[in-house]
Amino acid sequence: MEKKSLRQAVMDLLFPRRCPFCGRISGGVLLCAPCADALPSTGEHPLLEGTFGRCAAPLRYEGCARDAVLDFKFHGNTGGLDCFAELLADCAAACYSGEFDTVTWVPVSKERRRQRGFDQSCELARAVCRCWGVEPTETLRKIWDNPPQSGIRAPEERRANVLGVYEAIPPHVWGRRILLIDDVVTTGATLTECARVLRECGAAEVLCLTLCRAMR
Ligand SMILES: [Zn+2]
Repeated sequence: MEKKSLRQAVMDLLFPRRCPFCGRISGGVLLCAPCADALPSTGEHPLLEGTFGRCAAPLRYEGCARDAVLDFKFHGNTGGLDCFAELLADCAAACYSGEFDTVTWVPVSKERRRQRGFDQSCELARAVCRCWGVEPTETLRKIWDNPPQSGIRAPEERRANVLGVYEAIPPHVWGRRILLIDDVVTTGATLTECARVLRECGAAEVLCLTLCRAMR
C-alpha cells in the first residue's frame, strides 16, 4: 500500500472516501475492491466508430456505472469525480496517446446550467485535466436550449433535436487536435453535431471520450 501524506490521512479521517459506485467507505482508495471487479468495463473494446469519428469510453452505461452517472448529473454528487477522471484519463491514454493537444467538453445551455448549478461534462473535463496538470479549453457554446435527448428515442429525431444548437469559439478551435469529453454516448447524435461544428470551424482532429457508452 502506498504511504499516505499526513494531509490525506487527516482528510480520510474527517471525510472518509466513499466508493462512487456503491457508496461504501472505501478506505482511502478511489474505488472499493468489489466495484473495481464488478464495474461494467468496455474491456478490450473501448473504441467505437461512428458519424462522430472515434469515441472511447471506459464503461458501459448499465448497473452501478449508470447509477453513479445519474447521481452525479441529477443530484450533484461530485464524490466520484476523481475516480471518473482516472478512468477517463487511462482510457484516453490507451486510445489516443499523443493524438490531441486540446481538451474540451460538450456544454449544456446557460438555462440548464442555471437550473442544475453546474455543467457535468465541464466538471468531467476539468477533473481529467487535473490528472494531466493542464486546463480544459472552452471551444463550444450551446446557443439553443433544446429538449433533453433523454426524452427522445428515434435516432433521426435525436439527430434533428441537436442540429444547430452548438456554436464553436473559433480562436480556440482552428488547427487544434481536440479531445471532446461528454458523460454518456447513446446514439452519438450530440457528439456528431459537436464534432461537425468543430471540424467546420477548422479543428485538425476531433476525438470523443465519454465516461459511459449506452450503444453496443
Ligand atoms: Zn464500490
